[in-house]
Formats: sequence, structure tokens, C-alpha cells
Amino acid sequence: LGPGTHALREKEHRFGAHNYAPLPVVFQRGEGVWLWDVEGRRYLDMMGAYSAAAFGHSHPRLVRALTEQAGRLALTSRAFSNDRLPLLLERLCVMFGYRRALPVNTGLEAVETALKAARKWAYQVKGVPTDAAEIIACHGNFHGRSIAIVGLSSVAQYRHGFGPFPPGLKLVPYGDPQALEEAITPSTAAFLVEPVQAEGGIIVPPSGYLSRCAEICRRHNVLLIADEVQTGLGRTGRLLGCDHDGVRPDGLILGKALGGGLLPVSAFLADNAVMDVFQPGDHGSTFGGNPLGAAVALEVLDLLFETRIWEHAERLGAHLRERLAARRPPCVREIRGRGLLIGIELHPDGPSAALAAELLLARGLATRDTHRSVLRLSPPLIIDQDTAEWAVDTICDVLAALPQ
Ligand code: PMP
Repeated sequence: LGPGTHALREKEHRFGAHNYAPLPVVFQRGEGVWLWDVEGRRYLDMMGAYSAAAFGHSHPRLVRALTEQAGRLALTSRAFSNDRLPLLLERLCVMFGYRRALPVNTGLEAVETALKAARKWAYQVKGVPTDAAEIIACHGNFHGRSIAIVGLSSVAQYRHGFGPFPPGLKLVPYGDPQALEEAITPSTAAFLVEPVQAEGGIIVPPSGYLSRCAEICRRHNVLLIADEVQTGLGRTGRLLGCDHDGVRPDGLILGKALGGGLLPVSAFLADNAVMDVFQPGDHGSTFGGNPLGAAVALEVLDLLFETRIWEHAERLGAHLRERLAARRPPCVREIRGRGLLIGIELHPDGPSAALAAELLLARGLATRDTHRSVLRLSPPLIIDQDTAEWAVDTICDVLAALPQ
């Protein structure tokens, strides 16, 4: 580590809260799929900011949209309308096939928005007694870090010491529609699900899972809400993760890549029966729907449909998984994923994914482990085949050389 890296990391450690343990590198600049640290060393970004940097770093069109809008108007709050947001709302509704969209900032806010909508819908439309509404989510989920949402988590570390949590939150095993059906009661408002569990270790459910869940939810008058914060906008090789099963959820949550990796933009989309529960003053956020984020998100959606980047993600993702499987170093237990959301699970009794991530960093490849000893690959979707092949070959070299 150079002195610049060391000094900055020490400052961060000294003055920052210790809620993260970043790898020993300090990035200064990004362009496309590449990152440069403060020492001038170049790294391939195989994290893509947890899938948010889908079009890479500092994409010229996104930077232009951001800077032009910043120079014109960045924020008024929703006390007034701005001239960008209506265009974004229309575009979201038309592109994804919903009647209404509610913009907020981070993924967690959009999830909270969805859950608030579902509860109020349960009281106003479904007739559930007040304060009785239940939300069902899945073991191994990740939906964010608010108190309500970690109240839905099965991960002890996310919950420990942060209770009490709101009532009416239930968990069922992921990938098991029967368990969902058994958990539903007349008070169930919604089933919240990720099309692929990303933070949970890149867990891909059996094919047909979401369509069976959709059928069960329909039969019980329960809202199916898909958290596509990570899987949406091309990441899994389709426009939406739900598209793999041909499912249109009652509520759709988008985030991360919607802000082009430049700023937080998220949204909850639904039809009138759900969205009309919100009346003026019920819900909102100072920054939600700001013209800066709206201008960038509009450009992101343009780029997405011009490039149909999900087709590239589908092809390249399948190719990379095959290439990894063909080499498959001995410490690898399983290779899985959809599109460019790939997990390499290591044997529990072998070297850790955290160690692998540190060694890969030294080889110029930036990625991280998730819990359950899974190395995650979620590069910018614009990564080309040669570069991606170099990455998986380097990963195989490093994994093969690890002490078993
Ligand atoms: N939902 C999913 C599926 C996510 O992966 C994440 C972030 N990893 C979130 C919600 C929360 O998003 P944010 O960090 O923007 O609050």
C-alpha cells in the first residue's frame, strides 16, 4: 500500500463509523469498466457498485445529462412540480406496463414505499382489520437496512441489537411456492420477493417459481411485489428478472442502475388499485423525484433500450458461467447466476471468498464476497467479452492457487 492509500484509509477509519470493512484500496477515478486508485493503479470493476453502475463509470451521456441538468435545476422538492419528473414517470409506466410510478431515492426507500402501499391497500381495498396486515418475504432476502426491513431479514447480523421490529412480518423459504401458500392468511397484504437473491449469495430460484407464486398470490388476493432493485434493468439477461418467468408483479421496485451509477434514483410502480391509497401528504421525501435524478434516469432508460444491453448480459453471462465451469478450481463448490449476476460459491471447509477477493484485488480485479463464502461478479453490463474472459481466467488462476 502506498502512503496515499494508507493515509486516506487511516482517516476513514479514525473519523468514520465502522459499519463497513472496505478492501485495502482507495479509488479515485472510474471510466467504463475500469477504476483507478490513488496510486494510479488500474483495476477491473467486477462489482459494478452492487449492480448500480450498469453502464460503467462516468458514461459520457450520463455525465452530460447530469451536468446539464445540474446547471439548469437540481431540486425543488415535491412542493412544486419540475419539468423532468413527469417525463420519467410516463416513461417508466409505458416501458414497464404500469399505471403509476412513485419516485424515491434509494432502494430501501422504494421497498418501504411498496410495503406501506401494500398495508394500506390491505386495509382500504382488501378489508383486512386495521393493524393486522402481514407481509411475507423470503429467507435469505436483502431488501435494505431500515428497521422495518431488517425486521424482515433472516440474517442475524443485520438484526442483532436493532430491535424491536414492527409486527406482521413473516418469512418463508426461498424457492418454495408451497411454503408461501401455507403462510398466507386472510390478513396477508403482500409477498415481497427478489427474482434472484443477490446479497443472499446469488441464489437463483427454480424455473417457474415466480409464476407459481404469482398464481398463488392472485388466488388469495395477495400482492406480489418484486424487488428488482438489483435484478432489474438488464442485469439478469432480461429487462426484468421477472421476465424469466413471464410474470408481471402487482408492484415493481426499481433502483440502483436507474440512477446510472451517478446518484440514487428508485421507484415503486403499480396500478391504480394499489397506488391510489396514497393521498397528498401520506408519503414522500425531499429528494424523491428531483429533476437531477429524473434527467439521469431518462438517459439511462434511453441507453437501455437503444443498446438492449440485457441481450449482451444474457449471452456473456452464460458464456462466463460455462468458462468458469470448464475450469472449475477444486475449491469451487458451485457456479450459479443469471445474466451478469454471477456467484462462485467456495467449499465451506476451504479458503474463504473474502481471502479470494483480497488476492484478486492484488491482481487488479475488484470484487467482494457475500456471506456463505460466495464470490460475486456483477460487472458493469457494458463489459466486453475479452475483458470478461480475462477476469474469469484470473479468478480461476487465483482460486486454483489457493491453499486447499
Ligand atoms: N433491494 C435489493 C434487492 C438490493 O440488492 C438492495 C441493495 N443491495 C436494496 C434493496 C437496498 O438498496 P439501497 O442500498 O439503495 O437502499
